[in-house]
Amino acid sequence: MFVIITIVGLIIGSFLNAIIYRLHKGISFLKGRSFCPHCRHTLSAQDLIPLFSFIIQKGRCRYCRKKISWQYPLVELAAALVLIVLYFNFGLSLEFFIYSLYSLFLIVIFVYDLKYYLVLDQVAIPAILLGFTGSLILEMSLTKLLIGGIIGLGFFLIQFIISRGKWIGGGDLRLGLMCGFMVGWPKIVPLVFITYISGAVVAIGLMIIKKKKWQDMVPLGIFLSFATLIVLLFGEEIIRFYLL
Ligand SMILES: [Zn+2]
Repeated sequence: MFVIITIVGLIIGSFLNAIIYRLHKGISFLKGRSFCPHCRHTLSAQDLIPLFSFIIQKGRCRYCRKKISWQYPLVELAAALVLIVLYFNFGLSLEFFIYSLYSLFLIVIFVYDLKYYLVLDQVAIPAILLGFTGSLILEMSLTKLLIGGIIGLGFFLIQFIISRGKWIGGGDLRLGLMCGFMVGWPKIVPLVFITYISGAVVAIGLMIIKKKKWQDMVPLGIFLSFATLIVLLFGEEIIRFYLL
C-alpha cells in the first residue's frame, strides 16, 4: 500500500506543478499537453515520469538542455510524503481522503506564494469552501468549525487593520478563514502559533544572512499553509502534548 500511495503522491505532485505553472500563465487546465517552458517542445510520456525523468535527465530538458527548476521534484516528493504520513496516521479513512485534498491546495498555495508573493482567489476561495464542507463531512460540530473560522480570520484581520494592510494582504485573510475551517477549534490555536514561530524563525534567519531587511515582506501565506499542513498531519499529537 505504501508503494501505491508513494506513486500516486508523485503523480499528484507532478500534476500540482502543472497547475501552478498554468495558473501563473493563465493557461486552461483542460486543453493542451505539457511543454518545456524554455523551448516549448511538447513533452512525451517519458519526460513526464515524476522524479525519475528529472533524475535520469540530470535536471535538464531533453530537447534544449536548459535546467529544470528544483521545484518540480521537490513538489512531487512533498506530495508523496504528505500522503504517506496521512496514510500512516489515518489509514484509508474519510480523514485520509479529505486531508489529502486539503493538502493539495496547501501545497499549491505554499509554492505559489513563495514564487510569486501572491495568494490567488481562484485557489483560496475553493479552498475555503472545501475546508467548510470537508469539516462538516468529518462531523466536526458547527460550533467548532465556526470558532476555528472566526479565530483564523479574526487573528489576521486585527493585524490587517492595525497595519492598514501593510503586513498582510487580503489573500492572507482568506487563508486565515480557510485554515480555521480546515482544522477547527482547538487546533486553530497551535496553527496560529506555528505560523508565527516559523515566520519569525525564517525572517530572523534571512536578516542574519542579510537577505532581507525589517521592512521587507515575508509572504505570510507560505507559513500559514505550512502550519496548516503540520496541524493536519500532527494535530492530534500536538493537542495531546499540550493537554498533558
Ligand atoms: Zn526545453
